[in-house]
Amino acid sequence: MKARKTPLRTCVACARETDKRDLVRIVRDSEGYTRVDPGGKAPGRGAYVCATLTCFESAVARKRLASALRVSLSEEDVERLRNEYEAAIADDAHAPRSGR
Ligand SMILES: [Zn+2]
Repeated sequence: MKARKTPLRTCVACARETDKRDLVRIVRDSEGYTRVDPGGKAPGRGAYVCATLTCFESAVARKRLASALRVSLSEEDVERLRNEYEAAIADDAHAPRSGR
């Protein structure tokens, strides 16, 4: 029996429940600023999305992300988050096939 060290989280786009490490956290801080939180440790209200752009786009298009974070996201916000998201999933930890 292997103990699970990482808690499970649910993707706001596809509702898949999976290891926290396979998801990207997006956080809204106390000032209402929304950003991608690759470390998963930033304070504030967080929402998790699978480390794929498909889920990101779906979370945005279906307003799941905005409602999970209780914010309204402007097009500029979405554009900026998408860039941060792409950078986050390009990291080794989330790259789909960088070995591991
Ligand atoms: Zn997903």
